[in-house]
Amino acid sequence: MRPPRVEIAPPDLSPYREGNTGISHVWCFDSGRPGPHVGINALTHGNELSGAWALVRLLELGLRPRHGRLSLSFANVEAFSRFDPADPTASRYLEEDMNRLWKTELLEGPARTVELRRARELLPHFRSLDFLLDLHSMQTASAPLLLCGLTRKARRFARRMGYPATVVADAGHPGGVRLIDFGAFGEPRRKPVAVLLEAGQHWARQSIDVALAGCLHFLRATDILDAELAMRLAPTRKAGRQRFIEVTHAVTVRRGPFVFKDGFQGLEVIEKAGTVIATDGGEPVRTPYDHCVLIMPSRRLAPGLTAVRLGREVPPPRI
Ligand SMILES: [Zn+2]
Repeated sequence: MRPPRVEIAPPDLSPYREGNTGISHVWCFDSGRPGPHVGINALTHGNELSGAWALVRLLELGLRPRHGRLSLSFANVEAFSRFDPADPTASRYLEEDMNRLWKTELLEGPARTVELRRARELLPHFRSLDFLLDLHSMQTASAPLLLCGLTRKARRFARRMGYPATVVADAGHPGGVRLIDFGAFGEPRRKPVAVLLEAGQHWARQSIDVALAGCLHFLRATDILDAELAMRLAPTRKAGRQRFIEVTHAVTVRRGPFVFKDGFQGLEVIEKAGTVIATDGGEPVRTPYDHCVLIMPSRRLAPGLTAVRLGREVPPPRI
């Protein structure tokens, strides 16, 4: 299947290359007062441009925390530097997916790839954060999603953010550990909290606005900005119920060819259990229960990869 249209060009990151933390492309602004260390990260996947644009806008805006520290980081800048609008999917990563390697044994082990080298550089930075927003985007024009992993602390934080309308609680991928599940972020008894915003289609202009809105709601929820400024930048939404979906199944491609029955974009609700949503090597793939929600149907459908995740709506957590 052809990738979707590329409406946006990559931002120029050369003014931000040096950083001010000793780690390239990592910026930290310290209020000089005690408070949490709050970080927003973009380009865990090198071809997901909307997050990079949102961070550039925040850097241009010159936002500074009222207390604590605010850090802005660009992760897989090597893959990003190879972005080619004629083959926009190729620069997702160079050697391995940078959102599958956040495991101490791997990071402290002997393996050497471009992505592991950069992850090792970024490690002390991510370990120092109390709150993290990791900015991503999707292959399809799905409505935006906030992924919060399985901890209650992240689910409650997602509720405090109040944006976007759909929150997905999920266990990540069998292929490796995501940044938002790494170390203290994934441990229920420790305080640091990480969430991941899927801002829409990778190269849609609108995804930049969603990513930026996500950043501002995240900053408001961490309470490190001046309260009046935070409210002006990201007013609490009065309308619009937030919907929480718990992922129950990951459908992995077994034999292939894997063919969806419809041009699913994501967040479709399949009313009846047993509905065929796809075929895998000719075998039907059916929904396991009524009101089943399809999460992020993939366009990359090789055996072993996740084709789609299935979930059901659950009550929102109490804050
Ligand atoms: Zn991504």
